[in-house]
Amino acid sequence: MVKRLLIECGWIVSIDPTIGDLKDAQILIENDKIAEVGININVQPDEVIDASDLIVLPGLVNAHLHTWQTGTKSIGSEWISSDYHKNMHSNLATRFTADDTFLANIMGALNQIDNGTTTILDWCHNLRDIEMAERAIDGLEQSGIRAIFAHGTAKPPSVEGEVPYTHVPHPRDRVEYLRKNRLSNDNKLVTLAMAILGPDFGSFDVAVQDLELAKDLGLLSTAHVWNGYNKNLPKNEQVKDAYIKLGGMGLLGPSHNLVHGCYLPEDQIRYVLDQGCSITSTVMCEMHGHGAFPLMRIVRDMGSIPSIATDTNTLVAEDMFGEIRGALFALRFQINQQARSQGNYPLKNMPVNSREALEWATLGNAKALLLDDKIGSLTPGKKADIIMLRANDTNLYPVHEPVFAITDLANGSNVENVIIDGEFRKRHGKRLYPKKSYEKLRRDLLVSANRLMEESNYHPSAA
Ligand SMILES: [Zn+2]
Repeated sequence: MVKRLLIECGWIVSIDPTIGDLKDAQILIENDKIAEVGININVQPDEVIDASDLIVLPGLVNAHLHTWQTGTKSIGSEWISSDYHKNMHSNLATRFTADDTFLANIMGALNQIDNGTTTILDWCHNLRDIEMAERAIDGLEQSGIRAIFAHGTAKPPSVEGEVPYTHVPHPRDRVEYLRKNRLSNDNKLVTLAMAILGPDFGSFDVAVQDLELAKDLGLLSTAHVWNGYNKNLPKNEQVKDAYIKLGGMGLLGPSHNLVHGCYLPEDQIRYVLDQGCSITSTVMCEMHGHGAFPLMRIVRDMGSIPSIATDTNTLVAEDMFGEIRGALFALRFQINQQARSQGNYPLKNMPVNSREALEWATLGNAKALLLDDKIGSLTPGKKADIIMLRANDTNLYPVHEPVFAITDLANGSNVENVIIDGEFRKRHGKRLYPKKSYEKLRRDLLVSANRLMEESNYHPSAA
């Protein structure tokens, strides 16, 4: 039986160019899909949602976060990159159990939903066995979020006599098992991808094997990339033009996602984009401790929509509204600064429109994750992943232009309703996950985080 839900919207920001923005219009949802967007939709609905004081837009997409780190919020506020590896991967991460991973994943996913994100790519790079992977997936599934679970391996410190993680390919048996069993259906809310070491964190040979495996299994692969080669390997193992070689072997394409890429030589950036790969910038995280601009500019210049994401809440907030703002202002600053250094300043127009930043966080991310046929805009036929913001909240009121209100002013506290796959996950400003169970999860997360820090002998303190 078809269930019809009609949303009477104050404002619609559809991110679909054929629909545009609408005032006092409607959205019709049939089961899990958007059936119609327009004015005076003629239908007998089962339920009408009054959203006349709400701004209605597609759910935000967070294309890169390490949900397993949810319990370590902001402890790395003053870490530099090497501290992150020393404190996180070589120490804290080694103490995680399957249950720690579950708690972090469910609480991290619920946090995303609360704050208006309906789809995440969970970059889960601390899995030592199938049980950890299963519990990580449990957390995502139980939250109700749409997620790509990107299976990734741990990066423990080297042990004398053992092969270091840099030279260990992705475990084929584990990924194959998940692909054939629990995550075999790509139409479900949680689907599978591979978070691989790539040429920056593993050896070149491992990158080849991992990309081949992803291809064999028909999976999206994603890699953290900074320089494009692994500086920590002996000189004779460093392959500086790794991405060009991987492309030459036919291993690149739209199903490979690079995260960051800030220090890649420009010819390699252009090459990977030409090959159809996506690049995700985690702008706030990159600006937290790096010295090269995020790559939105070159991605945009080459005709693609940038993809932006929060990355880890160990270092920065996992808040997509903040990321939208950070990315927009970072790109404007970069373009203005370059114009000034070239004597062309001030520019005659604002170099980046606000709407673009909202597109990066919706359609841009959906494209990077190969989900743009399903999500990223309020388009009939796509999944009903929809969020609604209270236009009457003090920080937004009065709304003169909904796009500007979203990009410049909004935050998670404005999120009144969240619908994922046609189901309410937040309604009237309240999370629909059972309150008692949530309170237990919340307490358990604190116990888990405190234990991890105690065992690691790591205790953050502000200077
Ligand atoms: Zn990351």
